[in-house]
Amino acid sequence: MDFELSEENRIFRDAIRDFAQKEIAPLVDESEETQTFPRHLFKRMGEQGFLCPRYPVDMGGGGGDKITECIMVEELNRVCPGIAAAVLAQSGLATQPIYRFGSEEQVQQFLIPALKGEKIGAFGLTEPDSGSDAASIRARAERDGDSYVINGTKMFITNGPICDYVVVAAYTDPSKRGEGINLFIVEKGTPGFTVSRKLDKVGNRSAETGELVFEDCRIPGSRMIGDKEGGGFEQIADTLISGRITYGARCTGVAQAAYDLSAQYAKDRVQFGKPIVKFQNTRFKLAEMAMHIDVMRTYTYRVAWMYDQGKKVRKESSMVKLFTAEILQKILADAMQIHGGYGYMMEYPIQRFWRDGRLFTITEGTSEIQRIVIARNIGVLGRAM
Ligand SMILES: Cc1cc2nc3c(=O)[nH]c(=O)nc-3n(C[C@H](O)[C@H](O)[C@H](O)COP(=O)(O)OP(=O)(O)OC[C@H]3O[C@@H](n4cnc5c(N)ncnc54)[C@H](O)[C@@H]3O)c2cc1C
Repeated sequence: MDFELSEENRIFRDAIRDFAQKEIAPLVDESEETQTFPRHLFKRMGEQGFLCPRYPVDMGGGGGDKITECIMVEELNRVCPGIAAAVLAQSGLATQPIYRFGSEEQVQQFLIPALKGEKIGAFGLTEPDSGSDAASIRARAERDGDSYVINGTKMFITNGPICDYVVVAAYTDPSKRGEGINLFIVEKGTPGFTVSRKLDKVGNRSAETGELVFEDCRIPGSRMIGDKEGGGFEQIADTLISGRITYGARCTGVAQAAYDLSAQYAKDRVQFGKPIVKFQNTRFKLAEMAMHIDVMRTYTYRVAWMYDQGKKVRKESSMVKLFTAEILQKILADAMQIHGGYGYMMEYPIQRFWRDGRLFTITEGTSEIQRIVIARNIGVLGRAM
């Protein structure tokens, strides 16, 4: 067992940390204020191989592994979880299904340009009436000759308003619950595909989120991911399993930022004639935060390592997301408490992390859904799913 990051990992971490400080931090205020993602960042990050360090080099990735990706994700989230959300929708959700199951043509047309930052991707599973119960989606893709005609509405889609393409889940055979779903790539500009509205969010405001509508949207049959009808549910599960590990790194990054801000504030803020860090209850809060962050990071790396070894991590990926997202809520609450009234003021950055991190028990499977997945896979029901 070796719990140390490799030399290569450390060099990578320093490079992405430096990039995040120099090239992302200065963009945050305006981006959050205007709820606009700074689009040029995709190109800049693509040039540096930062869009997805774990994809193979010949596909435009960094040739690294899941641990490398987690290092990147933590560093981005320490600076701006909103900007990180947009980048991750691209480097995870919108590219993983093509990378894992796409045709050569789809790799050339969508994956490689996405990893270079030339195209922006989105992933559309959720619908207005279908969230946790993903098998209840209503979107339909009906075969018509060499084409599919897509009808449906997708809700809360990260990068939806700015995407060049979206990977959409739709039923090819609605008679088979879950099993009859496929994923399709729909390009911006395809007649019948519109962004019906951009959504106004509480947090993660620099990621643009929207509702997408497909009305008799005709796409070539070659845009279906995979070579047979049905089987899309497994592709979605494969994407979410990877994404849930990434969430461990997202939560760790936000937790680290909250700790750093709180430790500094506790040294600076003077009450009763001394810095509040001198009060034991403040130090105890910081001590617990430090302990939890260490466990969050270590556990995330462990599950990322398992993923890199090709082990089955359906249960562990849910465990890492559930644990890190829930413990993050305690860390953020303590961080706000240490900041007192100033923490509640918009001019102090802790409020942004508090708003942003609140999302993490909800997206890519709520905490309740993670508990269901874990319970199904620990043998208490006598079966695994
Ligand atoms: C900012 C943002 C960005 C997003 N980005 C994307 C994206 O890019 N692509 C995409 O496809 N989706 C995206 N989503 C959707 C996200 O994944 C869903 O919000 C999430 O899956 C939960 O679905 P829901 O919001 O419909 O909640 P619901 O499913 O309606 O759940 C409401 C509550 O009921 C609970 N609940 C539901 N079912 C059960 C059950 N069986 N047992 C116990 N409790 C249950 C839930 O845990 C939750 O607490 C995004 C959402 C947000 C807010």
